Amino acid sequence: MEPIDVAITFDIERDTSIEAVMPKIIRLFERYDAVGTWFLKHDYTDQFTEYTGAVVEDFPDIARALADVGEIGTHIHFRDVDGTFSMAPNLQRDLLEQATESLRSRGYDATSFRGGNLCADTTTLNILEDLDYAVDSSVLPGHYRELPDGVVVDHRGEVGNRPYRPAQESHTTHGDRALLEVPVSGLSPLDSISVDRSLTGVYNRAADHRPLDRLLPPMYHLWGWMSRAPIVLLFHDHEFGTDDGSLVVLERFLHSVATSPWFQFATVGDIAAGRRSGSQ
Ligand SMILES: [Zn+2]
Repeated sequence: MEPIDVAITFDIERDTSIEAVMPKIIRLFERYDAVGTWFLKHDYTDQFTEYTGAVVEDFPDIARALADVGEIGTHIHFRDVDGTFSMAPNLQRDLLEQATESLRSRGYDATSFRGGNLCADTTTLNILEDLDYAVDSSVLPGHYRELPDGVVVDHRGEVGNRPYRPAQESHTTHGDRALLEVPVSGLSPLDSISVDRSLTGVYNRAADHRPLDRLLPPMYHLWGWMSRAPIVLLFHDHEFGTDDGSLVVLERFLHSVATSPWFQFATVGDIAAGRRSGSQ
């Protein structure tokens, strides 16, 4: 049987963390011959800093180095120039077109997308398809969250953890779109370790490192074999910003995957390409 794909994905958002952290993470990926999916943020505004919010424009050298250890994707928080959350179609289209043009004009394929705060809806998928994207990775099965300004993230569909073709009318229903949805892994133990903690930013605490050491326990091997679902982990650069403890844990995880016959590193684009070629 084919090894299970492990897709380590980063939403890369903040300038201070990028310069401090990403070179260290890139070296780890090189050491273990790993690949990651690097969703580079491109927004009108940045809630944390004064910088413009276009990672590829402000940190071109880091973007280039990241492309050597995986795939560059697009990451957008759908906020207007004043910071208001909005899923208005014209706002989505403007931001997606800007971000895509910015990345592709610099030589990156940019055919995978993740919405900020896991925001994506049918409008998003329509625009992504217009722009020839192959993958959306914004769905965390079972996730529900109310954001400010009336934006709701609702992934309580019946789609599970395997990649799927979304329906035209609902991104959390199986259908026949050309675009592949590669969900963030939400099944225990991952959702309590990487995803939820990642989203709430508490992963940094040293006391929380222990669970990640157990990311590949026998039970998890069993789940992987049974479901044949890729493991899609979501991290942020700023989670690694306060100490090197998180890097030590990440290195252990990379070592685990690199030395296991049952798992292999993959980008979300690799997963989509495998689907297209029928190898899965
Ligand atoms: Zn983000």
